[in-house]
Amino acid sequence: MSMASSFNLEGRRVLVTGANTGIGQGICLAIGRAGGSVIGVGRSAMDETAAGMSALGAPFKAVHCDLSDHKAAQAMLDDTWSGPGPLDGLVNNAGIIRRQDAAEFSEENWDDVIDVNLKSTFFLCQAFARLALAEKREGRIVNVASVLSFQGGIRVASYTASKHGVLGITRALACEWAPQGINVNAIAPGYVVTNNTEALRADADRSASILARIPAGRWGTPDDIGDTAVFLLAPASAYMHGATIAVDGGWLAR
Ligand code: NAP
Repeated sequence: MSMASSFNLEGRRVLVTGANTGIGQGICLAIGRAGGSVIGVGRSAMDETAAGMSALGAPFKAVHCDLSDHKAAQAMLDDTWSGPGPLDGLVNNAGIIRRQDAAEFSEENWDDVIDVNLKSTFFLCQAFARLALAEKREGRIVNVASVLSFQGGIRVASYTASKHGVLGITRALACEWAPQGINVNAIAPGYVVTNNTEALRADADRSASILARIPAGRWGTPDDIGDTAVFLLAPASAYMHGATIAVDGGWLAR
């Protein structure tokens, strides 16, 4: 009988995209608390996350990359694997949202969101799996989906399309790679206090109607999401493949 907790990430190195703020930062800190080390990836400085990790005594390395270019994203993952070393986990968290009426929706607002949220996510999964498969290493992929993987949303057509797509590739890749020991799962956050939802929170009516619909009676926090990512990266979830776990204060249950 092993004495180690199956929720522990000691000795595991995880790459987290969008690590400077919001949910990505919450995921980094939760991994740090669980004993893991993090390669944080993003286009902005990650000083706040680095300071938080250092306070936890958790190893953290910042890597700069603009994920709107999927080839740059793949090259970054390849370089990370051969530099700091093989990865045990990949968390595809970076994402953007554009709000516009569907009848006016611009091609730019379509392409920009799909490129970061869906295309780079897929090609980072591919880069991770190619390396893991070549070395016969087990691995964990956690994609950040959304409650808009299940619902239509309001004025966010490209975002909703991207997040339905993230749920779809999570299932597709899980089926292909489960036999080789790569688990692919996703988290669907509800309404979380981050930059992503700033516009909603600034609109008093929208903000009140969202809050009134959340059974938990509060918005989510990055910590709420971080601990679910730890679960999906840890031995505890070894038999989970292709699941998308809602962490939404009950929003979808309503
Ligand atoms: P956020 O605070 O806006 O964080 C988004 C992260 O993605 C930031 O680190 C951002 O970097 C990074 N990013 C965006 N475009 C990038 C690019 N081209 N290259 C590299 N990094 C890029 O929002 P968040 O709420 O934490 O979002 C994290 C994930 O959760 C997203 O996938 C989002 O769709 C999802 N989500 C959020 C909510 C919510 O209620 N907040 C709900 C469901 C799902 P910069 O700071 O440099 O822009």
